[in-house]
Amino acid sequence: MKNLIKNALFFFILLLMIASFFSLYDDQKEQTKIVGIGILIQQINNEEVAEIIIQGNKLNVALKNEDKEIIQKEVGESLSEILKNFNIPKEKIDEIKIEVQDESGMNFWLTVILPFMVPLLLIGVFIYFMMRGVQGMNSKAMMFGQSRAKEFSKDGKDKITFKNVAGAEGAKEELKEVVEFLKFSKKFHELGARIPRGVLLLGSPGTGKTLMARAVAGEADVAFFHISGSEFVEMFVGVGASRVRDLFKTAKKNTPCIVFIDEIDAVGRRRGSGLGGSHDEREQTLNQILVEMDGFETHSNIIVIAATNRPDVLDPALLRPGRFDRRVVIDMPDIKDREAILKVHARKKPLSKEVSLRRIAERTPGFSGADLANLLNEAAILASRRNKKIINMQELYEAIEKVMLGPERKSRILSDKEKKITAYHEAGHAIVAHFLPNTDPVQKISIIARGETGGYTLKLPMEDKHMHTRSEFIEELAVLLAGYVTEKKIFREVTTGATSDLRRATDLARKLITDYGMSETLGPRTYGDKEEMIFLGREIREQRDYSEKTAEQIDREISSFINNAAQQAKGIVISKHEYLKKVTNALLKYEILEKEKFEKIVGEKHVI
Ligand code: ADP
Ligand code: ZN
Repeated sequence: MKNLIKNALFFFILLLMIASFFSLYDDQKEQTKIVGIGILIQQINNEEVAEIIIQGNKLNVALKNEDKEIIQKEVGESLSEILKNFNIPKEKIDEIKIEVQDESGMNFWLTVILPFMVPLLLIGVFIYFMMRGVQGMNSKAMMFGQSRAKEFSKDGKDKITFKNVAGAEGAKEELKEVVEFLKFSKKFHELGARIPRGVLLLGSPGTGKTLMARAVAGEADVAFFHISGSEFVEMFVGVGASRVRDLFKTAKKNTPCIVFIDEIDAVGRRRGSGLGGSHDEREQTLNQILVEMDGFETHSNIIVIAATNRPDVLDPALLRPGRFDRRVVIDMPDIKDREAILKVHARKKPLSKEVSLRRIAERTPGFSGADLANLLNEAAILASRRNKKIINMQELYEAIEKVMLGPERKSRILSDKEKKITAYHEAGHAIVAHFLPNTDPVQKISIIARGETGGYTLKLPMEDKHMHTRSEFIEELAVLLAGYVTEKKIFREVTTGATSDLRRATDLARKLITDYGMSETLGPRTYGDKEEMIFLGREIREQRDYSEKTAEQIDREISSFINNAAQQAKGIVISKHEYLKKVTNALLKYEILEKEKFEKIVGEKHVI
């Protein structure tokens, strides 16, 4: 596209140049007068003419007073004939120097040939450039089919082993087997064992799946090829499949090796559920992967490791024996793992002695390995911006919030009114969270804008949780609605500040009913088939597997959950009105309330 614009510009300039050339030529012409033949006859009779040069049908006349004229004569009539016709006496003609010139002069070229040639030339040049452009595209199209796999050499200085992967002991244990397969493949072959060809790593984004796969390659000391499933999916059908072929061709030349396919769900979704055009392409690519994996000879030492966070959408064909029949789950890190990951990434960073990574790990439930690495990086950036030589606890705490909620936006100045509304809103969240028995304790309240939110109330669980109860969810709903309820109670109207709270509350209520079976009226079943479809690049989430009537029931139930939660929140906001006021005032004064200050106002939280 860029090329086309460039070419067009080039032609435009060429055209301008030619046009200006012609106008220049025209300018020269203007100095000579174009006159009719009658005038010439008159001038000859008056003996004013010095010279006539005949060029085809054109007469260039030079007068004795040095003026110049051009006369266009009729085609096929010679000058002498004309002069004879006008009865000009012979003496008068003899006095004039008459010269006949070939039309092959410069003039002829400029006037006759050029007007034809220029467009022809232009078209020629245009075609030439077009061809060149197409050729360029062609060669790019050729490149398309190549896999673009990134290879990491096995003995580079940034070799990664299990030591670089903190925590995830269970996964490591399972993958050690794969390392052995690669290292001592002969031993297994001798016993007739079939080495697994594919390992599926399951885990949320950022849990270190890529890192783990590289570590396996590092431990086994084999080559590592990395490609992402989304790279297979291109505009053109067939490209993905040819990339797969190319990838495995390269891999086969480099055995033993590991082929790592990231985001395999991009191509490996259950077949037959796509509606859009990309569907065929995915299917072909997936088939090619399966064909390649089935085609491994028993002795080829290639192990394919694929990563996904959506095992539920994978095509069952991928999971059959002989394909990705090993599955290794990489969990979100628990507190112990988080501390270990922090330690790994803190190795090259100067931390002050007071820093306790354990405390950071405590404050970061739900953080993935990538989040934790990011956290330490943010802390280092903060410290260096403050011209510190070492990283303190303060920077680490701030980095947690930055990773969790986005950067602080001190520049967004709130008006006094807005500030008051925000303070009440957040105090409402905090108070309701504090006085309900099953919620996580409040860590921090802030009315400084951060990322998308105006203010925020941060709650953190006392320990890592893997399960949640119905009452926890119900109370969570009340906490979400507390901001809205408080605004309504204090100011008699609501602002747009509660929008995201309401959305989250609605989503949560829907999940309670349709996924968790926590609604009394709708009972213990799920609603909606979560099989995903891709239509025109957009995911359509749900396929209804229930009737229109049930849909209405669900809607009603969502509203009832939310209304009950609002009632519950309202009750607390009213009964604890004194505290609400105190917390709001403290917020208006300090803008940020840490757990200690907050509990000084409202007392310690009673947890069941
Ligand atoms: P995924 O492939 O699961 O999305 P990555 O392997 O790309 O995750 O992880 C991103 C980054 O997070 C890694 O480069 C690493 O710095 C960090 N990380 C994640 N998990 C761990 C871990 N267990 N130990 C050390 N670092 C980790
Ligand atoms: Zn809110």
